[in-house]
Amino acid sequence: MRASLVASKTILNGAENLVKRGVWREFLGMVTKACDLLCRKDGISFGHSRALLIALSMFLICHSHVCTNLMGMSDKPLKRYIFASDFDQTLTFNDSGYVLSELLGVSTDEFERKARGMAKLNLVQQGAELAYLLLHDPEFHSQVRKEHLYEVGKRVRLKENIELLSRILDNGIEGYHFDFYVLSAAPVEVIHSALEGVVPPDHIFGTRFSYKNSGEIERIDRATAGYGKVAVLDQLQTTQQVGPDHIVYVGDGSSDIHVMLHVNVRDGFTIAVSEAKHVAQIAKRTILSTNALAVLAPILEDTVGWQRLRIREFFDSYGFLIQEWDRVRTDWLTLRAAESDWQQQAASAD
Ligand SMILES: [Mg+2]
Repeated sequence: MRASLVASKTILNGAENLVKRGVWREFLGMVTKACDLLCRKDGISFGHSRALLIALSMFLICHSHVCTNLMGMSDKPLKRYIFASDFDQTLTFNDSGYVLSELLGVSTDEFERKARGMAKLNLVQQGAELAYLLLHDPEFHSQVRKEHLYEVGKRVRLKENIELLSRILDNGIEGYHFDFYVLSAAPVEVIHSALEGVVPPDHIFGTRFSYKNSGEIERIDRATAGYGKVAVLDQLQTTQQVGPDHIVYVGDGSSDIHVMLHVNVRDGFTIAVSEAKHVAQIAKRTILSTNALAVLAPILEDTVGWQRLRIREFFDSYGFLIQEWDRVRTDWLTLRAAESDWQQQAASAD
């Protein structure tokens, strides 16, 4: 009987291929051939031998599939990335400075005037204007306490589905894991409060203040604005031990220019979530949506390498239909009237 089983097994070795190809008639033909062998050599009834061989062949096929899958999993280690995102107007709709002004009863026009004035001076890193005002502007400095910053975090309007984005980045994309970090010039208290239960506090890097016993802000300990974001990202890359090409950065404003240039030059991936001229020109992709999940589209397309159909199916599996996906390249042109030769000559003669 043993010799017959060995012979049958040899015949069935070809069965896996037939099953994979879905050629069921040929598969049954092969099993029948093996049954004949068993009947002739060992005197087993045809019915019994056929049932035995179908069971045996199915076991062998399943066993080989499991082994292949296990080997495949071990052959493909998880690819680890850092996903770093700005906060104001990247994960939110409005700037925390405006929400704080409203809370304090300072008009938004007044806040805008002060912030613009600061930006014009180029005294502080781009994006750190609010931090500077909190420390030095009498109107803000005298009023703002830690609890106001926490309250701003509760009032700021977040983009939809940040929590789901965080879960998908963690373990929702097969073969990939993205560590979600927030790098922002906004006060760290605002971000902690806004993203409570969504992003762990040790994954949030915002501007840090020291406070006096009276509750007033005493000094800035660290401003995560402009080049400050580069420093934090480099530190994260070292501690997380990922290559520079395994960094994805998402941002919307001038505070993100330094870090985007830094990520791009080292083969990382940058996504702008606004059409702000300087940022959109630097970022490798620009994506505009009110839903935080939208940033997954360029990541799945460029980093993970999926086709659009698969990306649509992926969003569909989470209950989202990509209604419109328009891709446009924007060129910014400023045209001015060219001066004629005689106008130039007349100007130089004056
Ligand atoms: Mg921003």
